[in-house]
Amino acid sequence: MSLEERLKRERALERGSAIVSQCRKCGIGATRRNAVYGEGDPCAQLMVVGEGPGETEDKLGRPFVGRAGELLDKMLLAIDLPREDVYICNTVKCRPTLDMGHRLANRAPTPEEMRNCRPYLDEQIDIIRPRVILALGAPAAKSFMGEKFSITKQRGQWFDGPSGIPVIATFHPAYILRQTGGAMTEVKKLVYGDLKQVRARLREPLPTTLAQPEQHTLFE
Ligand code: URA
Repeated sequence: MSLEERLKRERALERGSAIVSQCRKCGIGATRRNAVYGEGDPCAQLMVVGEGPGETEDKLGRPFVGRAGELLDKMLLAIDLPREDVYICNTVKCRPTLDMGHRLANRAPTPEEMRNCRPYLDEQIDIIRPRVILALGAPAAKSFMGEKFSITKQRGQWFDGPSGIPVIATFHPAYILRQTGGAMTEVKKLVYGDLKQVRARLREPLPTTLAQPEQHTLFE
């Protein structure tokens, strides 16, 4: 990837992030501390899409930086991908909360919030054009594969995503963390199998039409 292309993508993502930081389409635009646009390599081959920011993410303005994020980092390393080499974002960019009176609890994003936020996610996908999208958990998976998608039955299968980009879903790291003992080991095995499919797909040679033209910056 040329430096020029990288800079172009960085600037496009910065513009997207600035727009999201002004967005007030949903009520959660007013209750958030920070919008959590996304972060990572603008030229990433893998885009990871989660559900929505939690408390730590809202506080820091970065995706997947709480406990689930720590596990996500380990999951990615298990397939030789340091976090910095992928692009990480969510279906919604503001923390969905429930007012419990004395505190705000996390909740799943509503269909309306996901619809409102979708253009921002689509733009990120357009800018980065990853080779693979990994959806974490049922809400993210359904946002690509439709409401009927079953995370227990259809995780680990490939689907055609936006612009024909292959999408695969696996269990959300927060779900893994809620398991205990043998159940946790079983879920981790399934997730590892899904991740290995991602790795294999990323290692497939690029079709020639998609292959990057060779760069000739020296000796021309
Ligand atoms: N869970 C998510 O789905 N996204 C985050 O950014 C953090 C936790």
